[in-house]
Amino acid sequence: MKNLPKNLIDFLEGSCYISVANIEKKLVSRYDKTVKYLFRLNDWEYVETVVMSYRHGYSICVSTQVGCKMGCTFCATGKSGFSRSLTASEILAQIESAQKDLNIRISNVVLMGMGEPLDNFDNVVRFIKLVSSENGLNIGMRHITLSTCGLVPKIYELAELKFPITLSVSLHAPDNKTRSMTMPVNNRYPVETLIKACRDYFDITGRRVSFEYAMIDGVNDSDNSARKLGELLRGLNCHVNLIPVNSVKGSDFKKSRLDRQKSFVEILNKYHITATVRRTLGSDINASCGQLKRNHTQEGGK
Ligand code: SAH
Ligand code: SF4
Repeated sequence: MKNLPKNLIDFLEGSCYISVANIEKKLVSRYDKTVKYLFRLNDWEYVETVVMSYRHGYSICVSTQVGCKMGCTFCATGKSGFSRSLTASEILAQIESAQKDLNIRISNVVLMGMGEPLDNFDNVVRFIKLVSSENGLNIGMRHITLSTCGLVPKIYELAELKFPITLSVSLHAPDNKTRSMTMPVNNRYPVETLIKACRDYFDITGRRVSFEYAMIDGVNDSDNSARKLGELLRGLNCHVNLIPVNSVKGSDFKKSRLDRQKSFVEILNKYHITATVRRTLGSDINASCGQLKRNHTQEGGK
């Protein structure tokens, strides 16, 4: 920037830095062109980002923390501990690096990578404002989804901001016994409290909540579980995404059989709840969060 005055350059050098997401590894799926990045941040921490290509455009799944404190037992990120939260610019840098590398424009953002977005509330809110700003990447809030394991007080804080984003809640079980087994956060904010917060979120924002439900063979995929889930969500304007669980190193959870997935959808529909089984993208490149970083770390990376 030789065209800037020397004192401005000195000032910038002394007070600013540029967040970059350097490509450490890049995997491209042979089946569906899903791209997964392992990005290296300024301090040599690593995060994962996935770019998915759909008919309506490109969607990016960004990380909000290096690791996660929440310790869900089925999650590769949860197993690798917590290092630090990302700044708003580090979350943005993932999108900028991917767009530049692939020469594309991203149209949808999901905060569903490594980390718990609501455990990094201020930076995530700043990121949402920046990414949706006309002076920023100009990706409208209706094209942004934030996924949370259910930090109830933060759900209320988010509701008060009345952002037209989609809130996606990782439920994964219809009762406290099963949910606490896989998600320790449930001991703090049990199912009833969480669902009440989701109902209130809808009342405050007018935005339909979506639920993630990772189907684990023999754990949460019985007809009885589906009926309990139907009862729990009765009357709530919502959508349920069923995801056959991805197996991760160090846990022996297996995905539910196809007939279980079908039966779940049918039972939920009887409760007038829309449910879809999520298509698995990038299955050959371990596209679900935390796995690439874990492998890299265990290979002797940081
Ligand atoms: N911390 C947030 C967002 C990141 S996790 C949250 O938990 O919602 C993004 C999604 O991936 C969550 O729904 C999470 O439960 C799910 N997930 C994590 N590990 C998974 C696995 N092995 N199989 C399927 N879904 C998984
Ligand atoms: Fe954290 Fe989400 Fe993984 Fe749970 S599922 S450990 S909250 S990243």
